Amino acid sequence: MKPRIYYTKPSITDLEIRYATDAAANGWGDHCYEYIARFEDGFKTHLGVDYAIATSSCTGALHMGMAALGIGPGDEIILADSNWIATAAPIVHLGATPVFIDILPDSWCIDPQLAEAAITSRTKAIVAVHLYGNLCDMDRLLAIGEKHGIAIIEDAAEAIGSVYHGRRAGSMGRFGAFSFHGTKTVTTGEGGMFVTNDAALYERVLTLSNHGRARGQTKQFWPDMVGFKYKISNIQAAIGCAQMERIEELIARKRQILAYYRERMKNLPGHHMNPEPAGTINGAWMPTVVFDEETGIGRERIQAAFAKDNIDARVFFQPLSSLPFFQEQPRNYFAFAVPARAINLPSFHDMSESEQERVIVVLQQICDA
Ligand SMILES: *Cc1c(COP(=O)(O)O)cnc(C)c1O
Repeated sequence: MKPRIYYTKPSITDLEIRYATDAAANGWGDHCYEYIARFEDGFKTHLGVDYAIATSSCTGALHMGMAALGIGPGDEIILADSNWIATAAPIVHLGATPVFIDILPDSWCIDPQLAEAAITSRTKAIVAVHLYGNLCDMDRLLAIGEKHGIAIIEDAAEAIGSVYHGRRAGSMGRFGAFSFHGTKTVTTGEGGMFVTNDAALYERVLTLSNHGRARGQTKQFWPDMVGFKYKISNIQAAIGCAQMERIEELIARKRQILAYYRERMKNLPGHHMNPEPAGTINGAWMPTVVFDEETGIGRERIQAAFAKDNIDARVFFQPLSSLPFFQEQPRNYFAFAVPARAINLPSFHDMSESEQERVIVVLQQICDA
């Protein structure tokens, strides 16, 4: 058996180890928040936003941000059907209803026209999920939000490094949320970030994130409301600080891996990969190939070929509406059709060219068969 090629693996250098070791040795007592503050500052600067709160996960950041917007029972939140459950779970926890919309066939992100058509008097927000690093049509979505008076939230967990006409993914909506799970471009093992330019929203999330204790509260152990406990630890934040010092390198490498696949696969029959429309930069978190319907190439064949070569290729997200606890929305044509002829390709930082070649050979063989 050939050695396994994993689909993702973090890049941890001596710098991350040094900072984490320092946090474990010295980051206590008066110093217990130092790496957290530094991580938040570094992230704010990178993204170009006014406020950032580091969290234990992206899911937690979304949960608190949505709670701070007053989302609750009876509300409807619109999002794309093709996604990981993490964006939908906080909506359900708050007693609101996720409304699943079809994706566009080229970006695999929410179709803005269908999103607008789904707005009702109960709609509180649209979540723009930048899938696999691909950007949502933010101009359209922000205009729709403005016109109907609803919030546009950005789930930028997969979009570190993605830039939309000069603005970074996650910095354009009412708030943005990021993930530093071990599979993401920047990692702290588990971790996340809430970001916004809205001072009042920031204050509400800050209070919520501290078990409901407001910043100015002088009484000890005195929550002003029932909040959440979604904090990151100083040790995780220390790893995050090292990753932020290396962020340009981490993003550049992701982009290089995608560019290499794209170039070497350009002669494969009918397919497309993560798009990069004019005026945008794709952070390339997850290089993905989708075969055209006419090729007749399906997921089972792709998965079997990769498994045979010991390559850990991942399936494209199944529609969330196809999960047993949601109501199926088969009218979401592309959300149902695309995963049946798509695959996520391995793209970890230290991947070698010869490992990429092994992936390309498998794809070539699938096409030749
Ligand atoms: C990874 C991911 C999340 C969840 O991140 P966690 O940090 O694991 O909570 C949310 N949304 C999207 C789009 C993701 O890819």
